[in-house]
Amino acid sequence: MADAAASLEALRSRLAVIADLSQALALMRWDQSTMMPRGGAAGRAGALSSLERLRHERLVDPALADLVAELEGASLGGDDAALVRETRRDVERAAKQPADLVARRARASSLGREAWQQARADADFALFAPHLREHVELAREMAAALDGEAEPYDVLHDGYERGSTAAAVEATFAPLRASLVELVGAIRESGGTCDTSPVLQSFDEAGQERFALEVATLFGYDLHRGRLDRTVHPFASRIGRGDVRITTRYDPHDLRNAIFAIWHEAGHGMYEQGLPDAYAGTPLGTYASLGVHESQSRLWENLVGRSLAFWEWGFERLRAVFPGQLDDVPVERFHAAVNAVTPSFIRVEADEVTYHLHVMARFELEQGLIDGSLDVDDLPAAWNERYEAYLGVTPPDDRVGCLQDVHWSEGGIGYFPTYTLGTLLSVQLWEAMQRDLGDLDEALRRGEFGGISSWLHDRIHSQGRRFTPAELVERATGGPLACDPFLRYAWAKYGALYGF
Ligand code: ZN
Repeated sequence: MADAAASLEALRSRLAVIADLSQALALMRWDQSTMMPRGGAAGRAGALSSLERLRHERLVDPALADLVAELEGASLGGDDAALVRETRRDVERAAKQPADLVARRARASSLGREAWQQARADADFALFAPHLREHVELAREMAAALDGEAEPYDVLHDGYERGSTAAAVEATFAPLRASLVELVGAIRESGGTCDTSPVLQSFDEAGQERFALEVATLFGYDLHRGRLDRTVHPFASRIGRGDVRITTRYDPHDLRNAIFAIWHEAGHGMYEQGLPDAYAGTPLGTYASLGVHESQSRLWENLVGRSLAFWEWGFERLRAVFPGQLDDVPVERFHAAVNAVTPSFIRVEADEVTYHLHVMARFELEQGLIDGSLDVDDLPAAWNERYEAYLGVTPPDDRVGCLQDVHWSEGGIGYFPTYTLGTLLSVQLWEAMQRDLGDLDEALRRGEFGGISSWLHDRIHSQGRRFTPAELVERATGGPLACDPFLRYAWAKYGALYGF
């Protein structure tokens, strides 16, 4: 048997080539969403498709599988064993998917995104419908290839949230939904209002960017290894080691959208920047799951960015960026303005309470698309019905209705539940952090974020994919994922804001 160290080295150099192809793919996708002229769409779709095919070929190369098998017999320990285990998982997953399907999905994803962007701009669902139909078919095909026995939606969802199923999601969502509907009712009946006028003035975009980005760097997002650009739908993207980019969009008449999106994406960016360098370019050097990813973004966006203690520090800085515009606004009123609960159309701009009702609507709709109970052509009507039922609002057009999110346009079906799972985890992490670090409000009031970011780095970021999401949650918080911490937090916070 060959020397295990040499085989490990050979494994890592094969994985490095795969990671380099992933880097090229990520850069091309980032570019398509930020810089690429629209005329480049067809060419880009072809290039992405070819590159995905090459990456897939590398992953299913029998020489890689042989190395994995050999190293499994070498009784490695610690991280090396984890590296082999996680590589096995990626190789097996790739091997189940025909190369042609991988290539078709990459092409459809790129073309679908372009069509969606146009459809969204024109509020014309018909432009996007054929692409969504193709995505649904490809998603079913992929689910069948990965596991012909399981429910297709479960297989798709597991690709984003390892170990989770629709039934597990629903078991979490059911009590959450009941309590949130009650909370929305309590807020409505309280008769209280949070005046949003302070944040609905005209704010120049350069000032918004300067303020939000400076704060993001104080949180710990490293601009030496990152950058911020504009896009249609905010996202964060790891291009490669030392290059993790974030994006946002600006609303010149609503201060909330860009700054919370920037902090949200910076939370994702810090996770990616904090992944273990020693395992960069290997499966072990990637994130645990999208739910865990979302816990990082939502924690900075909400637990920090929407807290009174944070604004007791940050408001002076904001005032200095927009002289004269917020001078007469007390910090408590500003805090209330950024926490106003209002059923609305757009998920990414939703308050912390109604946010999950947006997610639940999508969770039900995408299950319907995959199991065939909902036809693509009926999506806009079904969407609007859900919004009326859950939020009491009916989108005036599909632009702010079923065309608002980028995910389905790229074939991302089974992804949405991770937003709520991640939010629940963010509060659970916050509680665990307070047990370890004491009252975090004091630190926030001083603009000290290092304790929070180090805690997250140690327990989450630096762990890479060493543990399954469930194990990681258990280790970081001492228990399984639960909705009680979030509900305690939400009832206390909004009870105080709305006086009940
Ligand atoms: Zn996010």
